[in-house]
Amino acid sequence: MFNTARLKLTAWYVLIIMLVSASFSAVIYMVVCKELARSYRWVVVVDRAHRIGIGVPRHLPKNLENLDPQLQNLAESMEYQDALKEAKRRFAYRLVGINSVILLVSGSAAYFLAGKTLQPIQKALEEQKRFVADASHELRTPLTALKTSMEVALRNKEMGLAEAREVIESNLADVEDLKNLSNNLLTLSRVTENGDKTVLDEVDLSAVIETAVDKLQTLAEEKNIVLDLDLSKITLKGDKDNLREMISVFVDNAIKYTPGGGKVKISTRTEKEYAVIEVADTGIGIAEEDLPHIFDRFYRADKSWVGRDDPGFGLGLSVAKEIINLHHGYVDVESTLGEGSKFIIKLPLSL
Ligand code: ADP
Repeated sequence: MFNTARLKLTAWYVLIIMLVSASFSAVIYMVVCKELARSYRWVVVVDRAHRIGIGVPRHLPKNLENLDPQLQNLAESMEYQDALKEAKRRFAYRLVGINSVILLVSGSAAYFLAGKTLQPIQKALEEQKRFVADASHELRTPLTALKTSMEVALRNKEMGLAEAREVIESNLADVEDLKNLSNNLLTLSRVTENGDKTVLDEVDLSAVIETAVDKLQTLAEEKNIVLDLDLSKITLKGDKDNLREMISVFVDNAIKYTPGGGKVKISTRTEKEYAVIEVADTGIGIAEEDLPHIFDRFYRADKSWVGRDDPGFGLGLSVAKEIINLHHGYVDVESTLGEGSKFIIKLPLSL
């Protein structure tokens, strides 16, 4: 598909260039032929006039038709017509040659440019394809689990109430997974699609962080994890809901990947024209080889999710990264396996 589109675009580029070039050539041909005819005629007139001793104007007159009738007659010769025809023919060949060279050069340049123009589209298309394939794969896992468990339950004629409850509970967990996945997908598409249209207002960063942390307090308490806040008063230009979503991802991960009894510290400060948010945990840490990929869609650092009840879909950090991009910010991560991770987010105070 990409190659067909590239060829079509090349053809359009070449067509436009050749239309312009051919029109110019036609105009040049007409003007030059007219000038040639005039000059040839004048050369004949001057030559003959000299031979028979008649005076001629010093410069080539604009209009040979207004010449002295005596000189006019001298110009009525067929002798130079053949030479003129030959000159016109040669000039036409030259123009065709030049246009062929233009066609060749513009064809190659257009093919190259069409490739360059289509490259980002091709990349986006491939990314989209990969995303759809990954999303379908992720959707299929809980759906298959649901289907299998329901089929087994249906086949079991002696199933008691307690057993049925267990099946329903397990099914509900799968449904919850599906709901989380679709929520993540929706958030991702909302942030990527509407990124440019988001209106950024003055936002109280501390208030946003406190709201996000409040919602995760129960989760932290269940795991006996202390959430430590050290917030400075900072206002920045941003989108409140997206920023809350972004903070939730980092804090939720910090809680998820920190064993019970650990600590998660969320702090803010300003640094030059940036607001700096740090989310540090005393969790399992991230292996060095995983660090470059954790912000990729559907990427899960293997060791951290295998065997977990709530493995996550590997979408949280990519959503967070999109939101940070939307605010023209940066994110960095420092992590040591077994000791913990620190995510450092820098957002410009004003855009
Ligand atoms: P997930 O839904 O799997 O948490 P994310 O995109 O939020 O997806 O994170 C991608 C991966 O990065 C996770 O699977 C995990 O391996 C790793 N990760 C993210 N945050 C942390 C953290 N605070 N501590 C350890 N590993 C983390």
